[in-house]
Amino acid sequence: MKRILITGGAGFIGSHLCKRLLDEGNDVICLDNFFTGSKENIINLLDNNRFELVRHDITKEYFIEVDEIYNLACPASPPHYQYNAIKTIKTSVLGMINMLGLAKRCKARILQASTSEVYGDPLIHPQVESYWGNVNPIGIRSCYDEGKRCAETLMMDYHRQNKTDIRIVRIFNTYGPNMDLNDGRVVSNFIVQALKNEDITIYGDGSQTRSFCYVDDLIDGMIKMMNNTNGFIGPVNLGNPSERTILDFAKLIIKLTNSSSKIIYKPLPSDDPSKRQPDITLAKKELNFEPKVDIEEGLTKTIEYFKNKLNL
Ligand code: NAD
Ligand code: UDP
Repeated sequence: MKRILITGGAGFIGSHLCKRLLDEGNDVICLDNFFTGSKENIINLLDNNRFELVRHDITKEYFIEVDEIYNLACPASPPHYQYNAIKTIKTSVLGMINMLGLAKRCKARILQASTSEVYGDPLIHPQVESYWGNVNPIGIRSCYDEGKRCAETLMMDYHRQNKTDIRIVRIFNTYGPNMDLNDGRVVSNFIVQALKNEDITIYGDGSQTRSFCYVDDLIDGMIKMMNNTNGFIGPVNLGNPSERTILDFAKLIIKLTNSSSKIIYKPLPSDDPSKRQPDITLAKKELNFEPKVDIEEGLTKTIEYFKNKLNL
């Protein structure tokens, strides 16, 4: 049994991670400032005496004794991370420094939830870890992309300079229950619009691609990466390589929800990546990682979750 700190633990991915690590018998401390997360996501865990909930902001120091840290605190949806861009950078950079300081003092292993956004609008397809990316440093997505890139740099420098025990995972688009209704990302937007029979809003012409991974598969990969002791620290891509256009994705949601929604087109936000697909060769080789949940199965569970949320 380990004592594990999960920052951003009340968010979408963090809440699944809290549950899985508790189920495995660990002590879990969930730290969150509730910017995009909610108590509802972890309400079922509150009566477990191995679970603790702490309201804290990682841009401020935090002292505790733990064996492992999963650093997930950071808004992930473009409208949310752009809402207060400066705060987003502070969360990625100051927050990372604080969590690495904590890891160094406790000699804890620390895993950083990095992102496919470090590749920007990629010129290499599918994306491999050795690709350095094509990122605009001054655009509206930069607060997130560059913040996450700097966080990776900090992880590597603490590792080289202080021998901190690190793991870096680059997460590609992930979906599932516990996404916020008003999250603003494509999966929640399209499902909520379809369930309400409202127009489905495609940004641009819908030819841009994404590859969607069900949250349970991602959690498997994150825990495998944290637990591996073969010297592999990453960065490693975690995601599902099954790629589709946003237009095809909208049609699939309409089909699965039996919706009468119409598709409408809105302007494409600037710097929106035109394609994204993880190359997971490295994750397969080093972690034996393989996503198992296919898109229709994962979306059906997610649609059920949103139906309950909307009282439908
Ligand atoms: P989310 O917004 O649901 O969760 C983020 C959590 O962090 C929320 O609970 C929020 O309240 C908390 N938080 C934000 N700033 C904080 C701060 N300064 N101090 C303490 N808590 C703070 O997003 P998510 O989809 O669960 O993403 C979790 C992590 O995974 C993020 O770091 C994100 O960048 C990364 N990631 C997610 C995806 C994805 O597709 N979901 C893809 C790539 C990377
Ligand atoms: N998108 C869309 N309609 C929406 C929300 C998003 O067409 O209502 C598009 C968005 O422009 C992007 C893709 O869907 O091309 C994925 O967007 P999301 O915000 O989920 O995440 P991203 O991968 O861009 O960070």
